Amino acid sequence: MSYTAVNPYTGQKIRSFENVTDQQLEMLLDQAQDFYEKAQRRSVEERTEFLNELADEFENNTEKYARILSTNMGKLISEARQEVAKTVSFARYYAKNGVRLLKPQPYNDLSSRQAQVEFSGIGIVLAVEPWNFPYAQVMRVFAPNFVLGDPVILKHASIVPEAALAFQEACDNAGLPLGAFTNIFASYDQIDHIIEDPRVQGVALTGSEGAGRKIAASAGKNLTKSTLELGGTDVFVVLDDVDVGAAAKDAAKARLTNAGQVCTAAKRYIVSAEIYPDFLAALRDEFVKYHLGDPLDEKTTLAPLSSKSAQKQLQEQVEKVIAGGAKVLFGDPTPNRGKGAGFSPLILSGMDESNPMYEEELFGPVAQIYQAHSDDEVVKIANNSRHGLGGAIYTKDVERGKKIASRIETGQVTINQILSSQSEVPFGGVKDSGYGRELSDWGIYEFANIKSVIY
Ligand code: NAP
Repeated sequence: MSYTAVNPYTGQKIRSFENVTDQQLEMLLDQAQDFYEKAQRRSVEERTEFLNELADEFENNTEKYARILSTNMGKLISEARQEVAKTVSFARYYAKNGVRLLKPQPYNDLSSRQAQVEFSGIGIVLAVEPWNFPYAQVMRVFAPNFVLGDPVILKHASIVPEAALAFQEACDNAGLPLGAFTNIFASYDQIDHIIEDPRVQGVALTGSEGAGRKIAASAGKNLTKSTLELGGTDVFVVLDDVDVGAAAKDAAKARLTNAGQVCTAAKRYIVSAEIYPDFLAALRDEFVKYHLGDPLDEKTTLAPLSSKSAQKQLQEQVEKVIAGGAKVLFGDPTPNRGKGAGFSPLILSGMDESNPMYEEELFGPVAQIYQAHSDDEVVKIANNSRHGLGGAIYTKDVERGKKIASRIETGQVTINQILSSQSEVPFGGVKDSGYGRELSDWGIYEFANIKSVIY
């Protein structure tokens, strides 16, 4: 496997990197284990201070870190700066709350004895991460585990090697102890060997279902704890009482940000039949405002896809969707020409269950739209999916929105706002969208030893 950065807008190769050798890998695992053993004897406070240093490093050098996202995976420079800010916010959350979250908790309701629950690290955690949020996804795993004293070894997506190295550089510049964070350019076989290593006690994967099944199987075989953050087919529900123009603006943004390559992007719009024609017209008016261009140009509104292979895969999926009976309501489904990985936004209707692509995640600027005649029908369409990641509901009646939200089978739902992960609340999926939670208090306990001491 080759770790190679190619600018997805120009098609130009930037740099390739050699894989780690088995010998180097062994040395890096020793180093990580050494950090783990020392960390268990050192204070949580010390690590939260380091985490603030790391946040400062990203914050003070936002432009440098943001540009790497634009050149490695095509993110608009404005969105890249937002990603750096989000990465900083994840680090700051655990820097601020780490000591509180890891304080022993008394359990006093035992009949004749007392107990307390203590929290400590468990060992090395392997993070296998995707290219769509190359720093934020890594920080989500790194920050809570670092506070616990669990070293993190990163296997990043092979198309964002410069972003992987930049995260390493940020940790080094912030003065983090050796072995706390280690980026490796490893093959799939080496990843399997890492999971087999008894020093490795956790595996966190964010990525596709295929990778999830593979990594979870390896982890299961080795009795290693795993978390999976996988794909979704999230709904964006627009009820009959909304301001149609405002909802359409958010709906377009929720589908087209990051060129549509967001796990929780609005992949299926479900619109009340009463307002469907108005909403569709407003949505088209919003979609035409997005123009493909150089992600480093501040005026560009639509990024290219992350790679030529992502473009090819999405094109093939769209062809199957249309062959399966879906109608194109907006956009040009013919393949994009040119050396870059651009993809024209599409709105599709008629995606019913007979379409062989009905349950597939379309990871790009392709939206599907459905009409619903009642709140029950909204819920039925939303839950008729093997995915269970997120969703958004737009309505003036927040109580009505909350009732629908409670019935939607996903890990998170927003009301009147675009879904986006936040440090303070847990993030994760159900069904084929994975298991486990990242962020918030829940995220720090995934790879913790939660030890009861009874006395
Ligand atoms: P992907 O192809 O599954 O890759 C994700 C990571 O897994 C990469 O580092 C990849 O490495 C690695 N990987 C894949 N197969 C592997 C194997 N057999 N052994 C070891 N490592 C393996 O996913 P992607 O295309 O990068 O990311 C898009 C997917 O991630 C979408 O489905 C999206 O919805 C999901 N996602 C979910 C969340 C969430 O929080 N739920 C967040 C973001 C993205 P290589 O690059 O070297 O193949």
